[in-house]
Amino acid sequence: MSISMRWKERQHKFSLDDKNKADLTGLVFDIQRFAVHDGGGIRTLVFLKGCPLRCKWCQNPESMGIRPEIMRIPHHCISCVKCASLCPEQAIEYREDVVFIDREKCNLCGECVEKCYAGSMTIVGRYLTVDEVMEEVERDRPFYNTSQGGVTFSGGEPTMQSAFLIQALQEAKKHGLHTAIESCCMCTPGIFHEVLKHTDLVLTDIKHMDSEKHKELTGMPNNQILENISLAARMRKKMRIRIPLIPGCNDSAENIEATAMFVQSLGESVEGLDILPYHRLGEPKWEQLDRKYLLSGIRPPEREHVLALKELVSTYCENVSIGG
Ligand code: SF4
Ligand code: SF4
Repeated sequence: MSISMRWKERQHKFSLDDKNKADLTGLVFDIQRFAVHDGGGIRTLVFLKGCPLRCKWCQNPESMGIRPEIMRIPHHCISCVKCASLCPEQAIEYREDVVFIDREKCNLCGECVEKCYAGSMTIVGRYLTVDEVMEEVERDRPFYNTSQGGVTFSGGEPTMQSAFLIQALQEAKKHGLHTAIESCCMCTPGIFHEVLKHTDLVLTDIKHMDSEKHKELTGMPNNQILENISLAARMRKKMRIRIPLIPGCNDSAENIEATAMFVQSLGESVEGLDILPYHRLGEPKWEQLDRKYLLSGIRPPEREHVLALKELVSTYCENVSIGG
């Protein structure tokens, strides 16, 4: 079956909240095997598409939208112009050696992806059933057993596809796997509570303690996020919290101190706090999606600054391993 048929066939089955569909599909944009940084042991990471936040520094902007989307990789293009001539929607124009896609016209038929021999076009996101995801996850079963690994559902924000996520977590538990979610915790408490019932470990991040600044940086306030993190602590879920350190945005000692105090208030649930210095590896993807990257002038933080902030958080979070 061609990829375009597969997308079309699956598209109508996708649902965010219909729990009763036997053939419920999730929109997955990547599955990575042999991951070692996202939940302990050797893990398979399943990335679900869709996110309610719009973090300016996002390293995976292809994860934001809740539908498949076309991405072009300009440096692969050999200027054959084939895509522009075969696009049935006339959505592609070729001007001054550059391919332009009119995303309003594009219906994701997949023609340009299939016919571009240079691999310059791709569609991000494919619809998979829980069984198909588990089949992929089960391939590394021997490694999970020997390393105490498991499966991590990431995103985007995996709770955006809550029905699929809950089914997948339940299935993973039936298979005897350790389960983790990598979540921004921006969802209703009801959904989060249901997700947590089947989750062993929560990996989350706190972007800013000031709700107004959080909204400026991500498009959403932080109150629901902090409430859900507190809910996970009350449910005694193990958590690893990250602070993405973005120079000039959230890296003041005042904000990091406020974050450390909040983390400390969560008690024994928090097993680790990581400070993750900003990097620019995701920047080219914004261009590939025809979106403007808003932080292009920002440089990664100085090592000394990161070390000083780690020292600061360690004074508040004595029993928490500080990493990053
Ligand atoms: S078909 Fe591929 S290589 Fe040819 S112009 Fe289009 S994107 Fe470039
Ligand atoms: S996916 Fe189809 S409609 Fe969209 S740009 Fe490619 S050929 Fe055109």
